[in-house]
Amino acid sequence: MKFDVEKIRNDFPVLHRKVYDKPFVYLDNAATTQKPVQVIEEIERVYKTINSNIHRGVHHLSDLCTGEYENAREKVASFINANHSHEVIFTSGTTGSVNLVAFSFGESFVGEGDEIIVSAMEHHSNIVPWQMLCERKNAVLKVIPINGDGELIMEEYEKLIGPKTRLVAVVHVSNAIGTRNPVERIIEIAHKQDVPVLVDGAQSVQHEKIDVQKIDADFFAFSGHKIYGPTGTGVLYGKEKWLDRMVPWQGGGEMISNVTFQKTTYNKLPFKFEAGTPNYTGAIAMAAALDYVGKTGLENIAGYEKELTEYAVSKLMQIDGLRLIGTPRKRTSVISFMIENIHPYDAGMVIDKMGVAVRTGSHCAEPVMDFFGVRGTIRASLVFYNTKREIDTLYDAVIKVKEMFN
Ligand code: PMP
Repeated sequence: MKFDVEKIRNDFPVLHRKVYDKPFVYLDNAATTQKPVQVIEEIERVYKTINSNIHRGVHHLSDLCTGEYENAREKVASFINANHSHEVIFTSGTTGSVNLVAFSFGESFVGEGDEIIVSAMEHHSNIVPWQMLCERKNAVLKVIPINGDGELIMEEYEKLIGPKTRLVAVVHVSNAIGTRNPVERIIEIAHKQDVPVLVDGAQSVQHEKIDVQKIDADFFAFSGHKIYGPTGTGVLYGKEKWLDRMVPWQGGGEMISNVTFQKTTYNKLPFKFEAGTPNYTGAIAMAAALDYVGKTGLENIAGYEKELTEYAVSKLMQIDGLRLIGTPRKRTSVISFMIENIHPYDAGMVIDKMGVAVRTGSHCAEPVMDFFGVRGTIRASLVFYNTKREIDTLYDAVIKVKEMFN
């Protein structure tokens, strides 16, 4: 192991609280991650020392705050290896990023009878904005199917893509079953037909090094709160060649160049897509989260999380009647399962009483649940501050569920 987990844990205050007088075991990291003091203190520092609305003031603090906000953009660009920092748009999260593209790309490039491709394992936030676009434009939504292991059927994808396809939107890592999709190959196939690809990176950016130029993504979306940053922060990366040709999403201050009642002209990138006062405090604190991750090293994080996930899967599989939902060859640290026929909510309540936070339900991916014929699952999602000791507590909690319901 390349880092000291106990030292990492000391940076995350909430991990040290108790729940029902028991040590708190947080295994709901795919929903949101906990925050290190470095991020919490950064929020406090901004409000205590430099808070001022950005971009419009000539006074000193506005200048400082603007500088830090733009510096945060540079940090994000370097974190994902964007070619230009103006290809980084700050949003409210993955949902905001996907909606921006569905509207602005849709208005600019999608017409009647055109096709958008998504996959059968998308989060609702990478389905519904495309359905809304298709309704507006009389376009058609096509779906890449998955197999019984919860992997995309790539031959079917190759058959779906054609002259009417305008965009492919696909999740990098499934939040419901943990599958890590071959986005590199998906993008290669789409680009052969000049079709751009949006990657939903909400569940990948915190687990592996993202290089948007290497994978050649046209758009890449993620949420700050899932990578140890504040809620209400997120990023849309987009290639300049697309963003430049897309109409703005929201209108308002900052996104304009000149306004008259006859005609308004729009600002240049990235401001064209950032109407109104942005969450600058959030963006600055998100950059602190990326610094934290960068300092620990994504390779170290990935190595540790892989070991922990393998331990968790093999431990859980020792339990009679436990069924994994999704058994892909390439997975990250999201583990979805059922315990016999026990309703996930019932199981979740017992697990909670042991101080363990897992998520139960459909994980905003109802089509995935329908595919596997379940109403929901129990989901444990791990990150680099979790430990084998915590997995053992989850194991004990699952045994308890079985005892109580049998
Ligand atoms: N996509 C995936 C794969 C997700 O896991 C999530 C969050 N659960 C989202 C999109 C939406 O992210 P947010 O709610 O932060 O906008």
